[in-house]
Amino acid sequence: MITRDIVFENYPEILILMDMDYFVVDYNKAAGDFFRKQNVILKHAHIDQIFACRDDIKQALKQSAEFKIDDKIYEVTTDIITVNKQNVGMLIIIHDVTEERKTHETLFKLATIDDLSGLYNRRHFLKLARKEFKSAYSNDKMFTLLIIDIDSFKTVNDTLGHAAGDIVISEFGKFIKSFFRKDDVLGRLGGEEFIVLLRNTDMAKAWKIANNFAKSVSDLNIKYEGKQISLTVSIGLAGFNKELEDVNQLIIQADKAMYRSKVDGGNKATDYGDSII
Ligand code: GH3
Ligand code: MG
Ligand code: MG
Repeated sequence: MITRDIVFENYPEILILMDMDYFVVDYNKAAGDFFRKQNVILKHAHIDQIFACRDDIKQALKQSAEFKIDDKIYEVTTDIITVNKQNVGMLIIIHDVTEERKTHETLFKLATIDDLSGLYNRRHFLKLARKEFKSAYSNDKMFTLLIIDIDSFKTVNDTLGHAAGDIVISEFGKFIKSFFRKDDVLGRLGGEEFIVLLRNTDMAKAWKIANNFAKSVSDLNIKYEGKQISLTVSIGLAGFNKELEDVNQLIIQADKAMYRSKVDGGNKATDYGDSII
């Protein structure tokens, strides 16, 4: 019993021992305490009976999945116990992974999100775009890229200061997020240049979206120290097709189209097909 008390009973993790039919055979102090707080009394009984009022936990235990209680996340792992090559029982371990997940989420955000705009950074956008390119290629899907460059952005910095420029990028990022669909991939390529991947969208549809976007931007007023800053954008569009080798080629096309919009005076969209001169 010394072994059971040292190893099992006082083990800091939540441990439940069951037979292969989900009948609870034993559990440690951490398990008893944990479930008592949830108004569940652990006992030697089937988990259907024990967790009759907590279907979420019962399912998580059966499927070695996660469950949530308030803002905490618990992960369930199941170790099958074998004796003479026979499965005789299961040791269920419940582990609080809340902090781990938060750290992971923070690190993921730091690595993928551009601080100023709140959109994906260039590297992560390219990763997602490459994935979409492959998927479009093998599943005969369509997508369109938009490169969006703010017109004469330098004058914001030059007339109102760099801090004003930063506010414009930040507000513009928020606006992009509010304008496009949840499914679209939104990134900041760098400086005042943004990129949007419109999933399952052909050129005709993308064209309308891009023109609506340009119009909405020109109606936008960003407030800075009592002043109103208005903006226009130059947009370049390029649509996926199977002749392209990779997503970089598509980005180059969208960039050429964007440059055409710029040369034509800005505040407009150009499709790559119409930009070749
Ligand atoms: P165009 O109409 O041809 O696009 O001109 P533009 O002024 O928008 O573009 P240009 O490339 O001449 O200048 C972009 C400026 O953006 C220069 C750079 O200092 C500024 N910039 C780049 N990144 C940031 C940033 O994060 N914050 C601020 N405030 N300015 C930035
Ligand atoms: Mg610009
Ligand atoms: Mg630029």
